[in-house]
Amino acid sequence: MLVFKNVKKPMPIRCLWCNGTLEDGHDLWDIFTRKLWICGKCEANLIVQHRHFKIDGVRAESLYLYNDFFRSLLIQYKECCDEALYPIFLARYHRYIHHRYHDYVLVPMPSSIAKKQERGFDHLHLMFEACGLPFCDCLYKLDNIQQKGLSAKQRKHLQLGLKDMKIPRKLLLVDDVCSTKATLKAAVQLLANQDRCLRIVVVAYNPSKHKKSLFDKGIDL
Ligand SMILES: [Zn+2]
Repeated sequence: MLVFKNVKKPMPIRCLWCNGTLEDGHDLWDIFTRKLWICGKCEANLIVQHRHFKIDGVRAESLYLYNDFFRSLLIQYKECCDEALYPIFLARYHRYIHHRYHDYVLVPMPSSIAKKQERGFDHLHLMFEACGLPFCDCLYKLDNIQQKGLSAKQRKHLQLGLKDMKIPRKLLLVDDVCSTKATLKAAVQLLANQDRCLRIVVVAYNPSKHKKSLFDKGIDL
């Protein structure tokens, strides 16, 4: 049976972001039908914006707009190691992802070992684990020593490695933000060589990094 971790985790008493009254800004429907993690005033800054696009021919979707609020939230979570914030990001999308990609295995874009140790938690695992899908950590980030001798352009394309392990057939690549697309492109290239069925979900889309893309010219790829 599918267990949604966030459903089991007790709802906080105060807003996880501003520490204000959790119910502030939420209507009665929200209060009685949803599990709340932040107050309605903070949640209003989290802009749901469902986009569809492609990365090197692979169908991708993003769920939120990467705005100032999302950036602050992500910095506090990832860089300030505020692990408790994880339910905020995908609480409203766990069931959607579970049902839409029910036969896929999640492949998170990897952080460096040093970053993971510094944080003390795996930020993408925490965000996505309540979707109830299995993970396959088949990618790893190449460190500076492994990239030694490469040009800046080569480093951009050769930033990931593939572990020697059994890789499932249907893979859902997941990341927190789609900015330059470099990491996701590197992952697609590595896994396309393995003849796998790929899809991509990113939590937020940063439009400022895509001004020259067809997407921003109004063409939904
Ligand atoms: Zn708040």
